[in-house]
Amino acid sequence: MSTLFNFPFHQLSIMDIRNDWTRKEIQAIYDKPVMELIYEAATVHRQNNDPSEVQVCTLLSIKTGGCPEDCSYCPQAARYHTDVKVHKLLDVELVMNKAIQAKENGSTRFCMGAAWREVRDNRDFDKVIEMVSGVNSLGMEVCCTLGMLTNEQAKKLKDAGLYAYNHNLDTSEEHYEEIISTRTYDDRLDTIKNVRKANISVCSGGIIGLGESKEDRIGMLHTLSTMEEHPESVPVNALVPVPGTPLEDQEKVSVWDMVRMIATARIIMPKAQVRLSAGRVRMSMEEQALCFLAGANSIFAGDELLTTPNPEINEDKQMFQTLNLKPRASFKGAASEKFLTNA
Ligand code: SF4
Repeated sequence: MSTLFNFPFHQLSIMDIRNDWTRKEIQAIYDKPVMELIYEAATVHRQNNDPSEVQVCTLLSIKTGGCPEDCSYCPQAARYHTDVKVHKLLDVELVMNKAIQAKENGSTRFCMGAAWREVRDNRDFDKVIEMVSGVNSLGMEVCCTLGMLTNEQAKKLKDAGLYAYNHNLDTSEEHYEEIISTRTYDDRLDTIKNVRKANISVCSGGIIGLGESKEDRIGMLHTLSTMEEHPESVPVNALVPVPGTPLEDQEKVSVWDMVRMIATARIIMPKAQVRLSAGRVRMSMEEQALCFLAGANSIFAGDELLTTPNPEINEDKQMFQTLNLKPRASFKGAASEKFLTNA
């Protein structure tokens, strides 16, 4: 039996954040009997975070579809025939209205996603800079996911008030080529480095249910947890297969696989915001509660996640009330009480 099986998790604390995890250690955690795993993850979670707090983020697609990349799970790739309604970059005013609405509904983080391969230095980028600055002025944490980014562009976004940048690894380095061929794993890591250099918080995680092996899941968690600094946020997505994409026939991800991923991420990255992301729409409240117990402490709110469905805001408000969860305040203070009213 692995020595890790008897690892004294009750001794883990903020002092024990490690960036030298080995794949073997991560696998030993991932493979634990599920009840043991949840118990240990819950223990680490309450030692490092307030377990009653869950961050509520809103994600808006500011430019949808027509993407030249070939991510096999994504309905926004131009080469796949899906029902996605393509639109060019939204107007700043419209985005601001959406952000205000999200804030009124209790979100403290507003993430804007554009289906671009990379950011180009053009008028669209200038508009995004305006959006970042506007949303920042609302007192919300502003996040963007715009594709690959240079160091200069990262600095411009930072100066405009960007708080976090999302760039997922998606899967392990070994499985990556099966999912995307139009850019490399190293491209992904370079963008994350540029974001970090500009002092922007890194949001990076991945998707399960892409046909990857258990070892691939461990590999992705290993890459994340051995970065020089753990990502501030780690989204864990379950694939929502979309008709017309190469992965349209993938089987539904088991809740136990989600729980194992979340619990393992929580144990090896104790302070990260582990975000229960895409796939929540297919989970019951009880299943989501298990994920919160296992250490998830962030969700996306709103009826849509870029282009895939998400639970309705009122369902989430009801869930927070039933589970006695409270929305985490944004970095600027002001607790988000509105999320809990009018459920
Ligand atoms: S995931 Fe992003 S980069 Fe990949 S096809 Fe979709 S929009 Fe493009």
